[in-house]
Parts: sequence; structure tokens; C-alpha cells
Amino acid sequence: MIPPEVDSAIQKAASLLRNSHHAVAFTGAGVSTPSGIPDFRSAGSGLWKKSDPMKVASLTSFRHTPQIFFDWLRPLAAQIVQAQPNPAHLALAQMEKAGIIKAVITQNIDGLHQKAGSHNVFELHGSMNTLSCPKCHAVMASMPYLAPFIEEGTLPACPNCGSFLKPEIVLFEEMLPMQTWQAAEEYSKSADVFLVAGSSLEVVPAAGLPYHAVEHYAKLIINNYTPTYLDEQAEVVITINAAEALPRIAQLIE
Ligand SMILES: [Zn+2]
Repeated sequence: MIPPEVDSAIQKAASLLRNSHHAVAFTGAGVSTPSGIPDFRSAGSGLWKKSDPMKVASLTSFRHTPQIFFDWLRPLAAQIVQAQPNPAHLALAQMEKAGIIKAVITQNIDGLHQKAGSHNVFELHGSMNTLSCPKCHAVMASMPYLAPFIEEGTLPACPNCGSFLKPEIVLFEEMLPMQTWQAAEEYSKSADVFLVAGSSLEVVPAAGLPYHAVEHYAKLIINNYTPTYLDEQAEVVITINAAEALPRIAQLIE
């Protein structure tokens, strides 16, 4: 049972979204954990209890100790390939289709928003869909390389020059993809309602986007299990799992 105060927060969120003209969603790891994807960018997450992110998931690691980097990546890649969208992803896709949500800005690298049917998605931390060669700059689809990598541990190598291919996810020490970031910033600034789902807003600079939205007079909805630094600025705070809250919101809007 959903407690009455959470239910009234959900009603209020639905009403804000229904009356919006330019609503934007911003999602984090909490939207994908119900699909079995661990949170790789958040240094405070459980994933890093055993290994130091700088040693395994950094640009230095990819360049200088590729085997350590790829050993770290392999189980994550396997989870991402197998994962299916959950009700949170589906609800956001449904709200985009209904013309309510104009864009989804995500910190996730799993492509599950697109799998769920969202079209206008900005992946701040990149995705596993493509690989690029650091030496000759060739870019290719990951799929042909992922199966042998996941199943046999064959490291993806550039067909042109033989260098190891880097998945186009943003590693520690790397910048965010510039065009994606700029588009996300524009959407954030022009949003009239900004919905944060499944993000504790701890990873910068991504976590600054909802702040930009509020600065530009967006009404903020925060749906996260734990408190965030912007809760006090929010019109509505919903403290249950996004996979539970978002489908109810989408249903109320229909
Ligand atoms: Zn190459």
C-alpha cells in the first residue's frame, strides 16, 4: 500500500505534468536498478565497495591496464545486454508519446529508455551502443564485438589499426560529450516542469541540470528514494521507487 502522503504527492506531480508545456525528465541509476543494472558512476554505490573506480573505470585504466579495465567492464556489459526496461522506463516512454515529456536526460548508459520506446533521449554519460578507436578515431556499433567479449573475453580491437576499442561511455577522468551536454542544458533551462527520477543528484556536473531548471523557473518534481540537495526547492518530493511511482503518474495523466 502506498501511504496517503505519497499518494497525494503523486497526484500533485501528475497535475503539474498534465498542465505543463515543456516537461523534461532527468533519470539516474535508480530508474535502472529494478532492471538489474548497477550504478557505475556513483562512487558511493555498492559497486565500488570491492574495487577502486579510478583503478578500473578510468581513462588511465583503459589506456595503461586494459585487461583490468575490460575485466571490470565484462559483467556490466553482460548485464546491460540482457536487461529489459522496467515500468519506470515504460511510463516515461508513454508520457513522451502522450506529448507530455519532451526529452529524457539520463545519467544511465544502458539504453533502456530507447528500448522502452523513448525517442528524445540525451545520454550524459554515453552508452554501450558504440565503440571508438582512440588511435584512428573509427566509431563502430558495439554489437558484433560484445558477444565475443562477453562470452569468451575477446577484447574488442580496431579492424583498421588493432588498438583496443573504447566503449563510448564516460569514464572517470573523461569529459561529458559536449553536444549532448549542451542540448541537455538547453532543455533544462527551457523546461517548465522538471522531473527527477531515480537520481540522488550526487554526480556532477549532471546533478547541476535540475538546479539550472529551477533557476529558470521550472517546477521541480523529485522522485527518489533518498533525499537530494534540491528537495527543499521541489514542488513535490516522492520517496518511493520510480518503477512504482512513474506508472501511477502516467496512468493519472492518460
Ligand atoms: Zn583504429
